[in-house]
Amino acid sequence: MTESWGRYPQARHTAEVRLHWRAGLTLPLVGPMLAYGQGRSYGDCCLNDGGKLLRTAGLDRFISFDSRSGLLRCEAGVTLGEILRLMVPRGFFLPVVPGTKHVSVGGAIANDIHGKNHHRAGTFGAHVRRLELLRSDGEAREIAPEDRLFQATVGGLGLTGLITWAEIALRRIPVAAVRMEAIPFAGLDEFVALSDESDAGYEYTVAWVDVLSHAQRGIFFRGDHVAGAVRAPRTRTVVPTDLPVVNALTVLAFNAAYYAAQKLAGRSRVQHWDPFFFPLDGIGHWNRLYGHRGFLQFQCVVPAREGLRELLDEIARLGAGSPLTVLKKFGDVPSPGMLSFPRPGFTVAIDLPSSEIQTFARLESIAAGAGGALYPAKDARMSAATFAKSYPRLDEFKRFLDPAFSSSFWRRVAG
Ligand SMILES: Cc1cc2nc3c(=O)[nH]c(=O)nc-3n(C[C@H](O)[C@H](O)[C@H](O)COP(=O)(O)OP(=O)(O)OC[C@H]3O[C@@H](n4cnc5c(N)ncnc54)[C@H](O)[C@@H]3O)c2cc1C
Repeated sequence: MTESWGRYPQARHTAEVRLHWRAGLTLPLVGPMLAYGQGRSYGDCCLNDGGKLLRTAGLDRFISFDSRSGLLRCEAGVTLGEILRLMVPRGFFLPVVPGTKHVSVGGAIANDIHGKNHHRAGTFGAHVRRLELLRSDGEAREIAPEDRLFQATVGGLGLTGLITWAEIALRRIPVAAVRMEAIPFAGLDEFVALSDESDAGYEYTVAWVDVLSHAQRGIFFRGDHVAGAVRAPRTRTVVPTDLPVVNALTVLAFNAAYYAAQKLAGRSRVQHWDPFFFPLDGIGHWNRLYGHRGFLQFQCVVPAREGLRELLDEIARLGAGSPLTVLKKFGDVPSPGMLSFPRPGFTVAIDLPSSEIQTFARLESIAAGAGGALYPAKDARMSAATFAKSYPRLDEFKRFLDPAFSSSFWRRVAG
């Protein structure tokens, strides 16, 4: 059964069509259909219960690269990891990367993903110069940022058609290494002060927090690309089967050990880019640690510190600890998509067992009340009311929907 990363909810698809060749590509005659990249979305935006999936992994060709401008054109099923493997030795890096490199270009555009440098670079879609969109009427449209169909497709959750290729502006880097600092902090005010201080001077900033600890202590990471020789990581662990070990006790133990290990490792280090950007990729199938029932991720953005404080206090009050609670201050670079999630403010992401539906609903209501929004790429539960309230360009977006495309997420939030 094809799943999303959170393995919740489950979906049954009537057909899974594996796409291979861009030339002469035709879509199924009858929908509802939906592109599926690497399934690294946590909830149901990449699922289409009762409909068809168009699997794009076979659309994996590089088309052209201009080493003067850094413009790369590739098919939509190429993963960010494949781009980095080819381009880092040539002195180029992706302008924006998420917390895993196992994400397709099509998925990165359709969720308009963000990374640790949002305060500098904005979202992935801001660096896409052109793309081709295949609509269910058979027309292939080449579109650019000034086109409204482009603005609907970036962050458009795969609902405007199939992206077949895209052109991305890569950035130059001084090869392979990242100088990073890991700074212990205690409480929200220290996190905000570190963000304010670091955002001007550092390309990448993000924080991990142990919400259940006495002082809500955490580690603030900041870093920059630097020249230098560093070894690529060699070992990779794989969770071989369902191993439901995440529970209140193991979360407490993990968080204490992680905090201590980060302090022990020292404040300043030079690291290979891979473990700096993608630490979780070192453990294959780590989603199996939640067992076959899967898990939810709650990620929201709220415009002000007070909303974030309310969320963190409520997570602590409910005892909803997670080994992966991540904080980041978003910047004010405008997002190009009508439904893009990032906006100025603070984002928090927390994993919850799929049974924690009440906790999710409580956090959703705090985020919505604070004028925030939930991230569709991570979502499996938000209500239609929250979605409509927090995505004010929804009606405008609907004009660009492809009538043969749909998803489990879309039917849940848009009816
Ligand atoms: C460990 C981990 C860390 C993550 N960290 C971050 C992070 O830091 N920041 C962030 O923003 N996200 C993050 N994510 C989420 C992830 O980046 C997004 O969910 C991304 O969209 C997944 O890409 P995918 O190729 O797996 O697409 P899928 O999950 O398969 O699909 C996602 C959406 O894209 C659409 N789509 C896919 N391909 C196409 C196409 N060719 N044409 C049209 N639509 C298409 C699908 O229909 C669906 O709506 C993380 C995920 C994981 C598992």
